[in-house]
Amino acid sequence: MNPARNPSEERLLAYAAGTLSPPEAVVVAAHLALRPANNAWVRRLQSLGGEFLEEAQPSTLSDGALARAMARIETDAGEAARAPPPPNDMPELPEPLRRYALGRWRWIGPGIRARDVHAPRDGDCRVILLKIDPGRATPRHTHGGVELTCVLSGAYATETTRFDVGDLEEADEAVLHQPRVVSEAPCLCVVALDGQIQPDGWMGRLIAPFIRL
Ligand code: ZN
Repeated sequence: MNPARNPSEERLLAYAAGTLSPPEAVVVAAHLALRPANNAWVRRLQSLGGEFLEEAQPSTLSDGALARAMARIETDAGEAARAPPPPNDMPELPEPLRRYALGRWRWIGPGIRARDVHAPRDGDCRVILLKIDPGRATPRHTHGGVELTCVLSGAYATETTRFDVGDLEEADEAVLHQPRVVSEAPCLCVVALDGQIQPDGWMGRLIAPFIRL
């Protein structure tokens, strides 16, 4: 797989182990729904983890630990049996995103709109949908923390890489980029964003207060 358009193996491992931060896990889940090969890899890892636990159980888990594990499984089953929340108003979203309520569309800048995804947060890191019109670009920017972007429809390109449906871009404080939509239709992305983007240059700093994602 092309490392520039896929989650890093570390991030996929953390997702499989259930230790990835919740907002990042939402974006990775959307990516996996669109990338069956990566999804199969993650499921294989998870099943290996399960087999390992089964083999380890008789000798290493005390009775108390086993009872707690069983109680946990029963609790999880009880939660699963409860009615799921009604799906949101965007049937075009991949299945892992349908369960979350969505905020209203907000105007961010010319040709750029955003919508909050009411998924679990992790400090300042949260999930948003970003819709950018054809030919439009975000300001050239860097980041205060992680920015994980998965393309849901359309396509965009940075200075170095093109991202199509299902592709995932990992960016952080070390990345300076300017995504520009290169599809004929608007580009819809789901993004886990920590803090705010930090526009580059004197003009970027002037307009930064107006760009609140
Ligand atoms: Zn960015």
